[in-house]
Amino acid sequence: MSHGMVQLAYLVATGLFVFSLHWMNSPKTARRAVLAGVAAMTLAVLATWFQPGVVHHLWIIVAIAAGFAVGVPLSRVPLTAVPQRTALSHAFGGLAAGLVGTAKYFLWLGDDPSQLTTFRMTAIVAEVILGFVTLTGSLMAAGKLQEIKWIPQRPVTYPLQNVGNIGLLSAAVLIGLALILNPTAAWAPAAFLVLVLMALVFGVLLIIPIGGADMPTVISILNSYAGLSAVAMGFVLDNKLLITAGALDGSSGLILSIIMCRAMNRSFTNVLFGAFGKVQAAATGTEERVYKAETIEGASQVLEQAGAVVIIPGYGMAVAQAQHRVRDLYNELTKRGVQVKFAIHPVAGRMPGHMNVLLAEAEIPYTDLIEMDEINPDMPQTDVALVIGANDVVNPAARYDKSTPIYGMPIIDADKAHAVFAIKRSKNPGFAGIDNELYFQDKTFMLFGDAKAVVGDLVKQLSGGSGMH
Ligand code: NDP
Repeated sequence: MSHGMVQLAYLVATGLFVFSLHWMNSPKTARRAVLAGVAAMTLAVLATWFQPGVVHHLWIIVAIAAGFAVGVPLSRVPLTAVPQRTALSHAFGGLAAGLVGTAKYFLWLGDDPSQLTTFRMTAIVAEVILGFVTLTGSLMAAGKLQEIKWIPQRPVTYPLQNVGNIGLLSAAVLIGLALILNPTAAWAPAAFLVLVLMALVFGVLLIIPIGGADMPTVISILNSYAGLSAVAMGFVLDNKLLITAGALDGSSGLILSIIMCRAMNRSFTNVLFGAFGKVQAAATGTEERVYKAETIEGASQVLEQAGAVVIIPGYGMAVAQAQHRVRDLYNELTKRGVQVKFAIHPVAGRMPGHMNVLLAEAEIPYTDLIEMDEINPDMPQTDVALVIGANDVVNPAARYDKSTPIYGMPIIDADKAHAVFAIKRSKNPGFAGIDNELYFQDKTFMLFGDAKAVVGDLVKQLSGGSGMH
């Protein structure tokens, strides 16, 4: 393939990447977006492969086979594990960038040190720092989200943590500067390896003070680091597609982080350096209080007599895969003239858009999925708030309790509805590990059980089916 053809293919791939991101704006076009992204990536790989100077085809085939071997099982993870899967993808991106930067430095140093220009060295240093920070940072984030035993999920803090972290990063940047100025000095190869090590350690230290409600934002910040490391890699390899695709990745990750920070009422510096939730609210004084349980019959009666019901889905609905039963419940209630809306919290579940995806899969009309800011003013006029497997996103402690990891996060005002039904299996807390005062309110009634089973029972009761107790 001629140089011109390769560049043309890169241009088409870049266009497809841009459209892919654009089509992600709506659930209606999201499938097309995925296909465009896959087509763009395939075109990019093929065009790079058929470039004139590429001769070691066997290595490329081995790399593609290895990619498939890892990628295919990764594509099969359940939707609830997508955040950690995404973090793993960022880790691979960071690893690739870091390794390419390291390989290029040592290759040029051995073969032709004059290639190590100030410009290239700047790109290599940026690539290596960002790439390796993304690698270990993303692995830590994936481990925390997967709840791996030996990785603490709670934010871990210690004295002088931020000073230490900033000191380490500054030292790495100084070594990077020294390398940019003297890439061929006798000490340079050793300094390069120290730089790699520091970036790896910094990635771990960056993530350990972060936990709870800040995890989604961190994943998207790491996404943006992975993109930036790809941009730097594009400069090192003189590859325009890597530069544009990396810039798209970096900026979209950054924009998503900003949107999520706003949705959760957190600032960037708070997320990264706030060591949020360091005071763990193990006991909030609510253990002695009792929950009121309600029966399926009682709950169905109240639901069918309600004028307006707001369903608040959360992680538990995803775990139980209850979305189709929820659709049946929606049908039963709307059939009776009850107005049913869904309140969608931006971080309900375990990934941005998690609830939208599940409810869209169950063919619940998009028009009835209402974002948090829009539905909250209606909550005081709502007859019943039906919480299905949500916990942190309806926890009023977020409004006032500074000691909790969710303090400051906007919540769905379930507590302002006239009555609340909450479906969950036990008295266990949610992701942030704190009790939820909502469940102890006078107007709250618990429907204990698996979300799919309980919603199924409600549907049976409403449709007059048998088998109820
Ligand atoms: P939570 O994790 O706070 O609570 C989920 C609740 O669902 C639990 O209390 C659990 O209680 C219940 N549950 C679990 N399984 C079932 C089941 N089979 N049937 C019925 N109930 C079940 O979820 P939320 O959606 O309210 O909040 C999301 C949390 O996740 C936030 O803290 C957010 O910051 C965090 N997060 C969000 C990400 C995102 O991008 N959306 C990414 C990473 C973290 P029980 O065990 O008693 O059943």
